[in-house]
Parts: sequence; structure tokens; C-alpha cells
Amino acid sequence: MPAELNPALAALAAGEPGPPPPVRIARPDLRPWVEGNVARGAWSFEGPAPGPHICILALTHGNEIAGAVLLERWLRQGLRPVAGRLSLVFANLDAFAHFDPADPVASRFVEQDFNRVWNPDLLDGPGRSSELRRARVLRPLIESADILLDLHSMLWPADPLLLSPDSPRCIELGLSLGEPPLVVADQGHESGRRVVDHLAALGRRAVLLEAGDHWEPETVARMERAASRLLHLHGLLPGAAEPMAPSRLARVTESITARSPSFSFIRPFRGGEVLAEPGTLIATDGSREIRTPHENCLLVMPTLRTAPGVTAVRLARFEEA
Ligand SMILES: [Zn+2]
Repeated sequence: MPAELNPALAALAAGEPGPPPPVRIARPDLRPWVEGNVARGAWSFEGPAPGPHICILALTHGNEIAGAVLLERWLRQGLRPVAGRLSLVFANLDAFAHFDPADPVASRFVEQDFNRVWNPDLLDGPGRSSELRRARVLRPLIESADILLDLHSMLWPADPLLLSPDSPRCIELGLSLGEPPLVVADQGHESGRRVVDHLAALGRRAVLLEAGDHWEPETVARMERAASRLLHLHGLLPGAAEPMAPSRLARVTESITARSPSFSFIRPFRGGEVLAEPGTLIATDGSREIRTPHENCLLVMPTLRTAPGVTAVRLARFEEA
């Protein structure tokens, strides 16, 4: 089904002034939680029985407040693991501090994307930025996790999905969650390594949840279902996880980067659309035509407002899970 853009997104896609996108969830009050008990904004609790260390990250992008709504509620309710260790982390607090519902797109990061700085070269290097400093603070905690779930949300209309580094252990983790029922394995971004890529390189299990529209209550609810299920599956919360229908697995086959300022999709595609015919025209980029490279091509998170050098869409092929 083609995407219906609300007036705010239609204006954003066209590069024209428009109203701010609607923000239907309240900005969480993190003041009681900023200090943390293991690092600033990071809370970690040991259960009374042995088990894995599961780390759940929110605010990797400062404007994606849905994950912070969930973790703030869990902290307020006093959620504690019955086994293993549970860490709840508000990642980019400095970007979140600038979150403004009147311009909610603006506060993704302060100086650079926190989710592109996880190369050991960068982390150990001389670079200085708000995000690198934050990553260095959180690095020991994050590297001590056996399993990590990174909570994200989306600006452009798209079906929810789990993004997995292309490693069997991470893919298996994504498929085990069953919510949302789609795992997309990818190679990450050329522009820098994500938290999940860093953990995958260390042999850990990590997936990134793109849970739905940034500022919708349903996105928080989906995050809670996925994160709770993760904790039940690994014994950190008591009781068995509900059985789920099997998930689908797709692997990214091509990443389309805009080269010209005139890059334009032929219509506002919705993430999750599957184009049956190979060679279907999806966008033009100056004189270049962008067509699907294979049949049943899954469109992964099209960015309807691009600029040269920006990933406009990733294309994926379904595989046997
Ligand atoms: Zn994000």
C-alpha cells in the first residue's frame, strides 16, 4: 500500500516549510534517572541467580524518545531481573536535552551520530565530540553485555523491523523475538559502525529494533513487547515467553545512496513494501534510474528527503529463516 504522508512529512519530503510532525507521546522526565548507578544515565541490576547480561539501549538517537518512555517507566516501576544482569541505558542524553516537540526532528545528535562512532579506531583515537565522549563512558558497560537490544523508531512511514548485523548469532536473536516478525540482516553503514555492529564484532548478540513511527504510543507498546519477550526468553523475567509465529528473514542486497540533489522517488514508498517485478523503477537520481535488482524486492526504510551522500533506501531479498 502506498504511503500516505501527513502534511508535516509531505512538506519535509518536498523540502518546503510545514508544520512539525505530530508528537503523540509525552517527553519523559528523565531527571530522576540522569545520574545512573553505573554511569551517567545507565542503570544496571544484578539478579539473584546466574544468567546473561542483557543491555537495553534507548536514545541512541536523541529524538527517538519512545525507548526512553519505556525505560523510564520500567525504572519508575522498579523492574528487576530474577536472574542475570539487566542494564537500562539512556544513550545520547545531551541530544535528548534539546528535544523540542515544536521541532522534533532536530535533536537526533549533538555533533555526530552516536550510532556511527563504534569503530575501535574512533573510540581509541584522538577524536573529540559529544557523542565520542559519551560512547567512551558507556563502552565498558556495553562491551560487558552478552545480549543488546537497541531501541529505535522511524520518521518516514515504514513497517517495523529488526535490523541485525549479518552474523548468525545476531540473526538468530532477532528471529527469536518474533516481534516485529521481520529481521533484516545488513552490513551496516559505510559512514561508521553502529553499537550493534561493534558487539557483533566482539562475538556478542545484538539487534536494533526499528519499532515504528517516532512519536506514537504504539511504538512504545511494540518496544515493550519485544524487550519483555527478550527478558523472558533469557530468564531475566519469570515465566515463559508466549509462542510466536515464525519471523521472516531478509538480507540487504543493495544500498542506494543519493548522488545528486535531485534524487527523487517516483512516489512516497512505504518501508516494507515488496515490489514483485525485477527492474521496477523506484527513483531517479539526475539522469540515473534506480530500479529493483531482483524479484520480490523489499524496500527497507526509504528516506523520502535525501541529499547527496545520504542512503536513500536499502533493498533486500527474502531468505529461508
Ligand atoms: Zn534511530
